[in-house]
Amino acid sequence: MTTVVDLRSDTVTQPTPGMRAAMAAAPLGDDVFGDDPSVNALQDKIAALLGFEAALFVPTGTQSNLCAILSHCQRGDEYIVGQMQHCYRWEGGGAAVFGSVQPQPLEHQSDGTLALADIEAAVKPDDPHFARSRLLALENTLGGKLLPMAYVEQATDLARRKGLARHLDGARLFNAAVAQAAATGADPRSEARRIAQCFDSVSVCFSKGLGAPVGSALCGSRDYIARARRIRKMAGGAMRQSGMLAAAASYALDHQVERLADDHALARRLAEGMAGIEGLQVEAPHTNIVFVDLVGPARERSAPLLKHLADRGVLATGLYRLRFATHLDVQAAGIERAIAAIRGFFGA
Ligand SMILES: *Cc1c(COP(=O)(O)O)cnc(C)c1O
Repeated sequence: MTTVVDLRSDTVTQPTPGMRAAMAAAPLGDDVFGDDPSVNALQDKIAALLGFEAALFVPTGTQSNLCAILSHCQRGDEYIVGQMQHCYRWEGGGAAVFGSVQPQPLEHQSDGTLALADIEAAVKPDDPHFARSRLLALENTLGGKLLPMAYVEQATDLARRKGLARHLDGARLFNAAVAQAAATGADPRSEARRIAQCFDSVSVCFSKGLGAPVGSALCGSRDYIARARRIRKMAGGAMRQSGMLAAAASYALDHQVERLADDHALARRLAEGMAGIEGLQVEAPHTNIVFVDLVGPARERSAPLLKHLADRGVLATGLYRLRFATHLDVQAAGIERAIAAIRGFFGA
């Protein structure tokens, strides 16, 4: 039985031996009392790395975005957000359900950005007819796409001029930073900080490409994080001896940032391997996610293709488009197997 090549998501990774050792050795306390040393160390580490006063360890990226939005916005406020962003489309409408905060979704441009003119036009005048426009939320990477740095600066400048707070859903901020560093020649950590510093708050997931089993962090000013801590408690996300989880995240920050470049290289190899197959339109990946559209007569074949791949030990997903994500637990040989299985399906 060959091992499964699981390309469904970069969330499926298992903790590495080094990470498990760090978890087992973590000193623990009770984080609701604020005395878990491993949680405190992680919060200090990510805040310092990204250039913020404070950070809050939360169980999931979804809860991190919820705490973020509810700490920026009051009931009757709105946040401007892209149609495909996680904190609009993929979180069950949490900000509206739990916070009575209305989203103002905008269409994305083909590069994933929100047009500056659209953002500007979406900001409502101060008038009782309208919700109060309060926040701009961006996501980087967005569906694996790196937002251009100049765009991030322009959009966040515009938001500041319009009196909006700025939140980054940086679930994959380090993938963005590693891709950006490959282009600028700078260090990925300084690129992560450069992106993060355009925002008032940043959420980062440790359980995606960074390879930790659980957890995200929300970063911001001390006052802001104090508000987020109240929301986290209300959401049931204040944990106790969570230092074991924080230690995994800390290990990931120390040891598993630069290696994201390997995931990006494997994603490029996968895209190359699918090039030229009749019926497949492959989007060149910026980072670790490859999106593929089935076109022409192949359009209706996504379910049979996924089944064909699964039968050969290659897992992928296809909710809107076929999606393949590379990560820590995928090696070059697995990518070659995936390519062979895909080519086999199309007789290519
Ligand atoms: C995965 C993801 C989240 C949510 O993370 P969970 O831990 O699954 O709740 C938020 N934003 C983005 C962009 C993500 O990819």
